[in-house]
Amino acid sequence: MIETKGYAAQDENTPLAPWTFNRREVGAHDVQFDILYCGVCHSDLHQIKNDWFPGIFPMVPGHEIVGRVVKVGDHVTKFKVGDLAGTGCMVDSCQVCENCKQDLEQYCLEGNTQTYNGMERDGSMPTYGGYSNTIVVREEFVLHISDKLDLAAVAPLLCAGITTYSPLRYWKVGKGHKLAVLGLGGLGHMAVKFGVAFGAEVTVLSTSPAKEADAKKLGAHNFVVTTDAAQLKAARGSFDFILDTVSAPHDFNLYLSLLRTNGTMICVGVPPEPAQVAAFSLLGGRKSLAGSGIGGIAETQEMLDFCAEHNIVSDIEMIDIKDIQSAYDRMVKGDVRYRFVIDMATL
Ligand code: NAP
Ligand code: ZN
Repeated sequence: MIETKGYAAQDENTPLAPWTFNRREVGAHDVQFDILYCGVCHSDLHQIKNDWFPGIFPMVPGHEIVGRVVKVGDHVTKFKVGDLAGTGCMVDSCQVCENCKQDLEQYCLEGNTQTYNGMERDGSMPTYGGYSNTIVVREEFVLHISDKLDLAAVAPLLCAGITTYSPLRYWKVGKGHKLAVLGLGGLGHMAVKFGVAFGAEVTVLSTSPAKEADAKKLGAHNFVVTTDAAQLKAARGSFDFILDTVSAPHDFNLYLSLLRTNGTMICVGVPPEPAQVAAFSLLGGRKSLAGSGIGGIAETQEMLDFCAEHNIVSDIEMIDIKDIQSAYDRMVKGDVRYRFVIDMATL
């Protein structure tokens, strides 16, 4: 076993604190890398708080993980010691179902293995995430990271990046489309960058008027304050797509009214409570309500390569791991510009 240092929540009410645990030895098909940076996703907080389902505790969160390879198994061919490496939200899947075979491991019919708050596929032990000094992952779920980009700012691409890139690609959002990004946080700011890179006209829908200047700097063409009734009314019937990144309960019907005829609202945010959607909100204008979960491994690599080529990274605020609770507090208030990243040297 590999003794590992991390930060864990012991239950849903206790703040994260230092915790030592074991990871499996490096198997023939495994890559071990030392973690340099880990992004802080709102999903980390949802899971610590049992927002979605009862979690597995102690829980070491973190699924936006980058670092440097320190050991590889005998059969590993794609990585060598010293390479940069990354891992996102999943570390395994069945690899043989029809979805896995189509590079959609995130939709593995047996369920993918989450990077933390899951069980290893053999059921032997829980998985533990990236708020830690080292990790062991099977080769197929390790990503190559370019040395051209700022490594700390690459970390959030492993979740916030792929989760927004994947639906924009699937729905072929680009030139001639009006895209609205609902919520300007970690996912939202990456959606703006990708939407602009793909040629769409991008509008940020935000509850925070103070983010307007940032939205424009990120490349957004328009900004609508959703708490301002007049601005919201003016935006009705405007958008071909809305990418909904909001983490808290909100009124889907209100935002569906902002779509044009045949428009699609894509949910990537996962509020703790289910939404109420009126059939009338969809049938008037033949609108679609859809969802999307992270992205497959091949598409995640494609996204990382696209970012390296187009010089796209996350806008980050680096934190010391001991300040994780105050980072969570700020994230809940919508005060994140636009992703916290833990400098793992502070562990
Ligand atoms: P985040 O950084 O906290 O951003 C969420 C943003 O939503 C906030 O900055 C805020 O933006 C807006 N918001 C917050 N409360 C709101 C409210 N009550 N009404 C309207 N807007 C509100 O969170 P994140 O890390 O981007 O994650 C966003 C959501 O996506 C989370 O639920 C997370 O679990 C989920 N997620 C899903 C996937 C997937 O695979 N589908 C992957 C990763 C994360 P403004 O200040 O601009 O209003
Ligand atoms: Zn995430």
